[in-house]
Amino acid sequence: MKSVPFLDLGAVNGLIRNELDAAFRRVLDSGWFIMGPELEAFEAEFAEYSGVKHCIGVGNGLEALHLLLRAYGVGPGDEVIVPSNTFIATWLAVSECGATPVAVEPNPLTHNIEAAAIEQAITPRTRAIMPVHLYGQPADMDPINALAGKHGLVVIEDAAQAQGALYKGRRAGSLGNAAGTSFYPGKNLGALGDGGAVLTSDDKIADEVRRLRNYGSQVKYQHDVAGYNSRLDELQAAFLRVKLSVLDGWNDRRREIAGRYTRLLEGKGFELPFVPDYADPVWHLFVIRHARRDALRDHLAKHGVNTVIHYPIPPHRQACYAAYAGQQFPLAEQLAAEVLSLPMSPVMSDEEVDRVVDVLACFDPRA
Ligand SMILES: *Cc1c(COP(=O)(O)O)cnc(C)c1O
Repeated sequence: MKSVPFLDLGAVNGLIRNELDAAFRRVLDSGWFIMGPELEAFEAEFAEYSGVKHCIGVGNGLEALHLLLRAYGVGPGDEVIVPSNTFIATWLAVSECGATPVAVEPNPLTHNIEAAAIEQAITPRTRAIMPVHLYGQPADMDPINALAGKHGLVVIEDAAQAQGALYKGRRAGSLGNAAGTSFYPGKNLGALGDGGAVLTSDDKIADEVRRLRNYGSQVKYQHDVAGYNSRLDELQAAFLRVKLSVLDGWNDRRREIAGRYTRLLEGKGFELPFVPDYADPVWHLFVIRHARRDALRDHLAKHGVNTVIHYPIPPHRQACYAAYAGQQFPLAEQLAAEVLSLPMSPVMSDEEVDRVVDVLACFDPRA
C-alpha cells in the first residue's frame, strides 16, 4: 500500500508551479535581487493581510524575533518569558541579545502559555513576554496583554506557526506589540528557502528593525548602529507573494483535514487537540498525545504512515542550555515524551486521512 507522507512539499508547491515559475523569471529578468520591488510589495501585502501597519522582511524567523528584542532594547541582565515547550528558536532569540529566557509551563490542553503562570514568573528584571502560537493555535492573548500592561512589559508574539490564525477574529501577528514570523519552507506560508518577517503597528520599532536588518543603516553607507545582514531577498519575496495569494484556501483545507481527524478519532483513546472558543487555528500541525507514543509511532511507521515529533527534547534539556539542567519543567518533559504530529498538509486527501485513522485504530496500546 502507498505510504502517507508527513508533508510532501514537492506536491504542495507543484499546485502553483506555473505561478512560481513566473515569479522566478520576473526576478531573474529584473536583475535586482536584494531590497527591491518584490520585497516592498510583499511587505505591503502581508502587513495588510495580518492587520498591522508594518511588515519588515528578514532572513528567517529566529532573526525576526532577535531583531525585535534588540529594537526594544532588550539586553544583558534582562529576562524574557518564554514557553518551556517551544521550538528552541524562541529561546535562542533571547539568548542572542544576551538576555535570559525564563521558561513558563503551558496549559496542558492548549499547549500554550497563559497569563496566570506568566505572572508567577515576572521579576523586576522582566522586560518582555514571548507567547508562541504553538501548532498554529493562538495563545489567549487578551489576559497576557492586560498583564503586560500592568507590569510595563512588551509582548512579542512568536507567530512562526500561525500565519492566518485568528484570535477573537483578529490575526495572529497583530495581537501584541509586535510579532516575529518564519517562512521556513514547511510553515503554512513557506518560502522556497529561508525567510522571516517582523510585524508591528509601532512606527519606531518598525524603523529600528529596518535599520538593524540592513547593517544598521537607513541611508546607504551611513551606519547609525552596529546592525546585521538579515534580509528577505527578492526571489523569496516574489515566491511568498504567490504563496500568500493561496494561503487562506490552503489553511481552509488544513481545517477540513483537522475536522476529519477529530471526528474519526474521537473516543478512540488518543488525546486530541483542544480548541478554545477564542481560537480559530490554522493547523500548522495536528498533534495528538499518547502515553505510549514511541510504540505508536513505530506502529504507524510499520504501516507506512510518517509522523514527526514536535519536539522530542525541550530547550532546558538541550546541551546548549546546560545551565537550566537543575530547573524542573515536568509538563514540557511529559509533552516531549507524548506528543506526535500526524500527517498534515494542504495536498493531503480524505483517503489519506482515513488511512492514518485506520492504522491508528489497529494500534494495541498493550503491545
Ligand atoms: C520555525 C520556528 C521558528 C524559527 O523560524 P526559522 O525561520 O526556522 O528561523 C521560531 N519559532 C517557532 C515556534 C517556529 O516554529
